[in-house]
Amino acid sequence: MTERIILAGGGHAHLSVLADWARRPLPQTKRWLVTSSRYTAYSGMLPGWLAGNYQASDLMIDLEPLARKASTKLVIADIVGIDADARTMHLSSGECMTFDLASLATGGETNLTQLLALGDKLLPVKPVDEFVAKWSAFATQAQQRGTADVVVVGGGAAGVELAFGIDAALRRCAVRAIVSLVSPQESFLAGHADKVRALVTTAISQRNINVHFAQGTGTAEGLSLSNGAFLRADCVVAATGSRAQTWLAQSGLACTANGFVQVGADLRSISHPYILAAGDVIERTDRKVEHSGVHAVKAGPVLAANIRASVEGKGDDTYTPRRWTLYLLAHGKRQAILSWGPFVTAGKWVWRLKDRIDRGFVRRYTAEDA
Ligand SMILES: Cc1cc2nc3c(=O)[nH]c(=O)nc-3n(C[C@H](O)[C@H](O)[C@H](O)COP(=O)(O)OP(=O)(O)OC[C@H]3O[C@@H](n4cnc5c(N)ncnc54)[C@H](O)[C@@H]3O)c2cc1C
Repeated sequence: MTERIILAGGGHAHLSVLADWARRPLPQTKRWLVTSSRYTAYSGMLPGWLAGNYQASDLMIDLEPLARKASTKLVIADIVGIDADARTMHLSSGECMTFDLASLATGGETNLTQLLALGDKLLPVKPVDEFVAKWSAFATQAQQRGTADVVVVGGGAAGVELAFGIDAALRRCAVRAIVSLVSPQESFLAGHADKVRALVTTAISQRNINVHFAQGTGTAEGLSLSNGAFLRADCVVAATGSRAQTWLAQSGLACTANGFVQVGADLRSISHPYILAAGDVIERTDRKVEHSGVHAVKAGPVLAANIRASVEGKGDDTYTPRRWTLYLLAHGKRQAILSWGPFVTAGKWVWRLKDRIDRGFVRRYTAEDA
């Protein structure tokens, strides 16, 4: 019997599944990749694009040739619902697709709850391809005006790297800019060693970036802070962490109160084992694994192995994260900080290492090398 397999989402976690299918046939299956956009952006290079180290095309992976090599039909649409019991997926096009086996890696969406009153000034970092287009338009306007007040909301690694990238971008086009970073103090680079925060704080003080440890609430003119201050803004970049897409909670899948799909170490839904999931869309029931590109990428080969195991009737692999996760935080022009548990160092060589890893990742999933 032919099994119908759907990969939902063409981001970090599913790239190695497609590469696996391109390398080794999976007999007696029909396969689809349903995803919002033909291109997937490698988000780790986005701050480097802002800083002028990369062209936009350097961080984009074209899913069409990769899917073709994997003998997988590419369907460009948003998934708007899943019925886990009926094994159906509902698309924005109105189409309803039926599957025997599915894998979910649709990532998270930026949490904008406190910021919606900003209207057109609000620029969410995801989807990354939309961010690239909207930031480019904003930077052109800012260059014509000669000034720009930009606020980045979110003190995680992404928010910090974006603030450095934006500062570099506005300096490059000779704009008189005020760049601010807003984050509650307890979430400023949470999970990283104190030395990382110290290095970042030093780098921030050498740039034109103001840090405000507070909660921000959007208004039509800018950001009202919980410490009583007000930041006027032409543009507010939201890097406020990812939350689950709302349709997951209505899917019948076991989900957390926040709507993330609950999976075990085998990356199978604890309620519907014929649905696997990885990346920012999940919460593990057996241990805490943070939402990050590193874990999404490393889960990919386990997804590939377990999809194959389902088809071939074999046993599952499990994904066990290492004790520490390696993060390389870019700050400004060709400088980066290495954060690996208690080990922290910085310099140009860290940036060169990051550059090599990031470019290598994108190259691995472009058609010729896949
Ligand atoms: C600026 C920035 C920098 C970052 N830097 C790092 C870093 O250096 N290191 C690190 O570990 N992590 C980093 N991250 C986090 C990392 O990007 C995410 O953790 C990672 O992308 C999650 O992978 P994923 O496969 O779950 O989802 P994604 O890679 O986000 O992929 C989701 C895919 O699903 C598609 N999709 C979304 N919704 C739907 C839908 N409804 N229907 C169909 N398709 C859909 C999207 O188009 C996309 O193809 C960064 C994030 C940002 C924003």
